[in-house]
Amino acid sequence: MTRLREYLRPNTVDQALAAKQERGTTARYLAGGTDLVVFKPADVTCAIDITRLDLAGVHTENGALVIGATTLLRDIERHPAVAGITAGALLEALRETGPWLIRNQATLAGNLCNASPAADSAPMLLALDAELVLSDGRVIALDRFFVGPHRTILRDELVLELRLHPRDRAGSYHKQARSKSDIALVDVAVTARRENGRFTEVRVALACVAPTPIRARETEALLEGRAVDEELLSAVERSVRQEIRPIDDWRTTAAYRSHAAGVLTRRAVAALAAK
Ligand SMILES: Cc1cc2nc3c(=O)[nH]c(=O)nc-3n(C[C@H](O)[C@H](O)[C@H](O)COP(=O)(O)OP(=O)(O)OC[C@H]3O[C@@H](n4cnc5c(N)ncnc54)[C@H](O)[C@@H]3O)c2cc1C
Repeated sequence: MTRLREYLRPNTVDQALAAKQERGTTARYLAGGTDLVVFKPADVTCAIDITRLDLAGVHTENGALVIGATTLLRDIERHPAVAGITAGALLEALRETGPWLIRNQATLAGNLCNASPAADSAPMLLALDAELVLSDGRVIALDRFFVGPHRTILRDELVLELRLHPRDRAGSYHKQARSKSDIALVDVAVTARRENGRFTEVRVALACVAPTPIRARETEALLEGRAVDEELLSAVERSVRQEIRPIDDWRTTAAYRSHAAGVLTRRAVAALAAK
């Protein structure tokens, strides 16, 4: 098995990009290392440490929450603006993205760039219309970022920052796992505004039920402009099961994931309606 045998620590984004372009797919950027160093992909021989690139920090800008790519999950959790977003559902999703020892080392951008189908932060970020600002100047909707299991649209580009757009929406997040420190079996996030008892700007997103984290757009459309009652909740449960493509693996079965995705989405919508 190939091992990491070269470690670079550039001081500027340009130096990091040049090092990556020179080495191509045999090099990877290293943020917290809680995926890269643990799993050491067989074809990767060089780690390019990006923690000196001055990319850490959280601020708000025109209603968006802007998170620098090397900001640790714990530092995002502690930012005063975060607790109020989606009435605490974002904070809950961040806290479910690994145990706290890991969150002291890991970055949110790393969770997305690793592109696990089970990335716990991804559903809530999809439900907040997250965008990624790349080193080539492009701004990419998170919805267009994932390509397949552990694959994204990135080639040699760096993610410089994430932008979240809460737009005063309330939110609800559910992670189903065997224990707090296990990888999820199903993740669901729902965000929406409520106007005159009806949902608007609805977002429904899930992880662990398809090759990538996904938005359930037909279920979103079902909820848009509607008041929530038992009939609608049952329709949501059926709709979300039709939109997902879960698989059997050693953690659980496709049948369980399908059942849980329906039930958890129903609960998330009901919880949102009750807020
Ligand atoms: C014990 C343990 C428990 C865990 N629990 C969970 C959990 O409950 N839920 C969960 O979702 N994950 C979990 N993880 C996985 C991991 O901690 C997270 O995915 C974490 O957020 C990864 O961030 P990082 O900064 O460590 O990424 P790294 O390991 O440094 O990088 C991950 C990948 O992203 C790329 N990358 C990182 N930053 C950038 C950037 N700015 N631009 C371009 N590419 C970049 C790297 O090249 C690499 O391919 C766990 C890991 C461990 C070891």
